[in-house]
Amino acid sequence: MAKNSKRKPQPAKAQARSNGRPRRPRAGDIPGRLIAAAAGARQQAVAPYSHFQVGAALLTRQGEIVTGANVESASYGLTCCAERVALFKALTEGKRAFTALAVVARAPGGAMPCGACRQLLAEYAPEATVWVADSRALTRPRAFTVAALLPSAFTVVP
Ligand SMILES: [Zn+2]
Repeated sequence: MAKNSKRKPQPAKAQARSNGRPRRPRAGDIPGRLIAAAAGARQQAVAPYSHFQVGAALLTRQGEIVTGANVESASYGLTCCAERVALFKALTEGKRAFTALAVVARAPGGAMPCGACRQLLAEYAPEATVWVADSRALTRPRAFTVAALLPSAFTVVP
């Protein structure tokens, strides 16, 4: 069987296992500045209905950080996740290349990105390492690749 030559290169550092399970990151791998930015952004969440505050921070290849937090609506379906707020902010500021995303929420092990966010990450941040942390345990995040979070992502057929 031919080797899959279309496989995209994975980040050199902080790589998650390809089976989707997080590996235990080494202390030197953990992007503390990025996780701290996500924790700070979480304080700006607008979550009057669920009170579930989530912060996200994207790291660009140039080393810039763009943050976001979840915003809820009385029409619940209009709610937007922290990850997408951060991504939409970054994209509309002209940023395109992302190496990492941190997501912080008060939940055991952190809150995993939802399916909608995974699709957007697969499209706009496919090489990013996704760090997920409980706001009470910021130094013990879990790391995932976007490919592991959303295998066989939807793409437009040309
Ligand atoms: Zn989401």
